[in-house]
Amino acid sequence: MVDRFGKKLHITGKKLFLLDQDGTIYNDGSLFDATPEFLKTIKRLGGRYVFITNNSSKSVDDYVRKLTKMGISCDREDFFTSSQATALYLHAHYPGKKVYCVGTKSLQAELQAAGIELTDSEHAEVALMGYDTELTYQKLMDLSRLLTKKDVPYIATNPDWVCPVDFGFAPDCGSFAFMIEKATGKMPFFIGKPRPAMIELVMEKFHYKKEETVVIGDRLYTDIQSAINAGVTSICVLSGEAKLDDVISGDIKPDYTLDSIADIFK
Ligand SMILES: [Mg+2]
Repeated sequence: MVDRFGKKLHITGKKLFLLDQDGTIYNDGSLFDATPEFLKTIKRLGGRYVFITNNSSKSVDDYVRKLTKMGISCDREDFFTSSQATALYLHAHYPGKKVYCVGTKSLQAELQAAGIELTDSEHAEVALMGYDTELTYQKLMDLSRLLTKKDVPYIATNPDWVCPVDFGFAPDCGSFAFMIEKATGKMPFFIGKPRPAMIELVMEKFHYKKEETVVIGDRLYTDIQSAINAGVTSICVLSGEAKLDDVISGDIKPDYTLDSIADIFK
């Protein structure tokens, strides 16, 4: 198989397939025809796939339910979300520290299940912001107070400015961070794509090397940039957001560009 630029696809030796979801394996909730066979082929070749997502408003269980409903048999181990990455990051960098979390109930439950101790803004030793679709003004006040009064580490689950919704876009975690920066002068350390942390953490979790890893996604500035930042192979599929012109004219160059995942094992 050659890609859209005539480059021969070289993925033998790849074992860990990090897959974006929307635009990559389905669009608007309807699964691509090629997806079930593509996933089976990865397993048949002795590989493993993990769905990686920046969205910290939904829990892993939410995603398991969603894909199972679409006919993909999967379990919790097949997913890696920015919420899980955040829990690992907290354990690695701030072990045992109490966290004030601006996030959905799903995010808070996920962190607590992973052994992170959550507390109110007064007793916090770490501040955390997620894609909080249950955001209130009180939470913004409490986070601002904490960041102003104490010099605590401040992290955020994902840097996305917006989240695609049925009418266009809605503000995501990155936009919340800008709002807080205007008030406190502080910006968080972001965990999700395009930061390499997400890719590195999942390679570490499942014990794969860079040379064995490939990221497949439809967004150049998150999926593909995260692969570039982590030093792993990237495949951009044109079945979602990025168009061929974006790859030609943009600065972010994937290793390979294909029409869809159907072309990967051709
Ligand atoms: Mg996508």
